[in-house]
Amino acid sequence: MNDIYFNYNTIYVETGVTLSELSWFALEKEIQGFEFLEDVPGSVGGATIMNAGTYQDMIGDILSTVTYYSKKFNRVITEEVQKEFFGKRYPIWGERGDTILSVSFKVQKRIEDYEPILDKILLNKKNRYMKQPRDYPNAGSVFKRPYKNGVGQYVWKLFEGCDLRGFQIGSAMISEKHPGFIVNIDNATPNDILSLLDVAQTRVKSKYDIDLELEWKII
Ligand SMILES: Cc1cc2nc3c(=O)[nH]c(=O)nc-3n(C[C@H](O)[C@H](O)[C@H](O)COP(=O)(O)OP(=O)(O)OC[C@H]3O[C@@H](n4cnc5c(N)ncnc54)[C@H](O)[C@@H]3O)c2cc1C
Repeated sequence: MNDIYFNYNTIYVETGVTLSELSWFALEKEIQGFEFLEDVPGSVGGATIMNAGTYQDMIGDILSTVTYYSKKFNRVITEEVQKEFFGKRYPIWGERGDTILSVSFKVQKRIEDYEPILDKILLNKKNRYMKQPRDYPNAGSVFKRPYKNGVGQYVWKLFEGCDLRGFQIGSAMISEKHPGFIVNIDNATPNDILSLLDVAQTRVKSKYDIDLELEWKII
């Protein structure tokens, strides 16, 4: 499931391709718009189910079609992507337990010069490296960005206000570099991490009256 090719104005990708491979493939073809995916870990399949991206750009915004195996209908279906599929951030295929096989992206921004695209990829990578913890294992950003009275809040700021930067239970620690992440500084257990989530949610609720919703899926 690692095939990727470009034909006329469309990129076709099987879902085992990584987001980084997709981003560099687009660069080689001088296609803009995939730079934000370079440093997000994971596959195109996982990213489609999680609607991966940044707070500005998400994969759901640029997908054109999704081809999946439907357990319910026992057949392979190709579907044009509609905006409402991603209405609540996570799309319908995950909820139904479909298996995504491949996706396509319509390409509008072919610029015949790879350098500005390369600059953007490298800048994204640098910014993320500067901000995110890379010294300890972690599972990425923990909580979705919360809203209060329609205004987006930064999780890391809320955590700072609750003295959570560097707060530790067992070997699970709220990152000192970026409090939006929980890092495993030694041999953290699931219980260490769950307890830390609980403390963080409780403190933020009691100080700011904000309910933090997990970005992770706990399995
Ligand atoms: C250090 C770090 C930084 C991160 N930064 C970001 C970020 O900036 N933005 C962001 O959005 N996410 C980020 N994440 C989270 C992660 O990169 C995304 O959720 C990514 O989409 C996961 O892809 P995956 O292939 O690993 O999927 P998995 O985590 O393996 O799976 C995710 C879900 O998709 C399902 N799934 C996977 N493949 C398929 C398929 N082909 N068909 C059907 N279901 C499937 C799985 O069953 C699971 O439910 C980060 C994670 C880490 C560890």
